[in-house]
Amino acid sequence: LPTAKSSSSSKVRRTEVYAKKEPTVRNIDKIQNERIERRENQAKQRHVRDQVKAKHDVNDSQWEFAEMIEDWRDDNPAHPPHHKRMNYKINVCVRKRPLNKKETKNKETDVVTRSGEILYVHQPMTKVDLTKYLENLAFRFDYVFDLDDDNRKVYEYTAKPLVESIFKGTRATCFAYGQTGSGKTHTMGGEFSGKNQNCANGIYAFAAEDVFKKLRQPVYSHLQLTVSFFEIYANKVFDLLNNSQRLRILEDKQGKIRTVGLVDQVVNTVDDVISVLREGSRCRTSGQTSANSNSSRSHAVFQLSLVAPGRKTHEDRTHGMFSLIDLAGNERGADTMSSDRITRQEGADINKSLLALKECIRAMGKDALHVPFRGSTLTKVLRDSFIGEDSKTCMIATLSPGFSSCENTINTLRYLTSISYVQIIQLALD
Ligand code: ADP
Ligand code: MG
Repeated sequence: LPTAKSSSSSKVRRTEVYAKKEPTVRNIDKIQNERIERRENQAKQRHVRDQVKAKHDVNDSQWEFAEMIEDWRDDNPAHPPHHKRMNYKINVCVRKRPLNKKETKNKETDVVTRSGEILYVHQPMTKVDLTKYLENLAFRFDYVFDLDDDNRKVYEYTAKPLVESIFKGTRATCFAYGQTGSGKTHTMGGEFSGKNQNCANGIYAFAAEDVFKKLRQPVYSHLQLTVSFFEIYANKVFDLLNNSQRLRILEDKQGKIRTVGLVDQVVNTVDDVISVLREGSRCRTSGQTSANSNSSRSHAVFQLSLVAPGRKTHEDRTHGMFSLIDLAGNERGADTMSSDRITRQEGADINKSLLALKECIRAMGKDALHVPFRGSTLTKVLRDSFIGEDSKTCMIATLSPGFSSCENTINTLRYLTSISYVQIIQLALD
């Protein structure tokens, strides 16, 4: 209560009046004041909630997770990436595509965050008592691309260093791995505008361009570039430069694999390569012979071979080879549930070949004497690429950022952690 000394201030005078009231009246006033305060607070909270909801979707169960992810990002500011170009035997990078129209329309939350070389996936979880929380998984890679990094930049950090090595007479491979719709074909074959693909700005074309640049040096005047392009569907090989002609693969006594009758086209300019790519891509997407209306169910292999034409055997002729592979979509869930036998079989074949690929890359990383290449047609045709001390590979994992792809995203990242034990560390974070 106020003292006589402080009675001059208006605040205290009001309190004096208040103090003079009967205790019951005083209590009623107090309760009323508290109620007003409570209502004001509730109104404030409601306003904040409405603002958040308006930003997302009123009927959307994701908005709470979206808020949690935003809070997490506020608390953990992203680090910039390093600018080193890796040249390891096995190089693993990740590229997240922007949310597409459908995801944006559905107000899907982006559940993937980059910070330097670490990629975080915010997995939405719900406890038994229905409380929502995030599980934040972290994966470290050789390089993680930013949303506005284009195909050229992706190329420079992944396939470009491997062009050098094929001139040294070795084998190199570059894979695009990820779920359907995550951007494998966009990265390898070139950007899409609608359904049209610009074959000139994908990794296939960039690699060819650099090979030509180097071929102009007099020391390589005895070499020539040839290209082949084929797809593997249901463990069968189809030549994309010959109307999807089915090809047999043979293994000779030394274990060498040959794809009989594969078109090996001589190319002299980047434009030659681009027209080959156009022909092959058209063949792939229209592919009736392989019974796959959906190109995402097949692996596409584009090979750049440096050949010395004067030599007698194919073996002698091939100086170095760069295989660039747009892998089949790795999503599995929908397949195993499907009632369609063909879809289930396709899914099983894809899964088997991706597991075989993983085993071969692991063996390659350890310079193992035995590479288990017989596990699938894909690994058979790439056999030579896994053997040899100097052979190199890079894997570009493509991710769909949306909430609905979260499980596939985590599966993609887990697959990568099992390939390269040195460069990928999975951090257990909460
Ligand atoms: P996948 O081959 O993995 O099934 P696509 O390469 O066909 O996926 O990409 C699916 C769609 O997403 C395409 O329409 C493509 O234009 C778009 N897309 C993919 N990656 C990117 C990217 N990095 N930036 C912008 N759009 C992309
Ligand atoms: Mg594709």
